[in-house]
Amino acid sequence: MTQTVQDLSIDESGRNELTAADRCDLCGAQAYIRATMATGELLFCAHHGAEFKDKLAATAIEWHDETSRLYAS
Ligand SMILES: [Zn+2]
Repeated sequence: MTQTVQDLSIDESGRNELTAADRCDLCGAQAYIRATMATGELLFCAHHGAEFKDKLAATAIEWHDETSRLYAS
């Protein structure tokens, strides 16, 4: 067990929502998917999120997907 909890409680409010300021790491489009990996976070647009989900979701700590917001207006 690790005890590195300090960084996790900094900004709990709004921590889960992606905003227009969050950009895809690959193409710079607005990010709708956040993959939390052991090595850090990756942000993807809907297109790249779908492309990498098969590869990364299995090893991701969290796969946060807001692509449904694209279709629900
Ligand atoms: Zn992209």
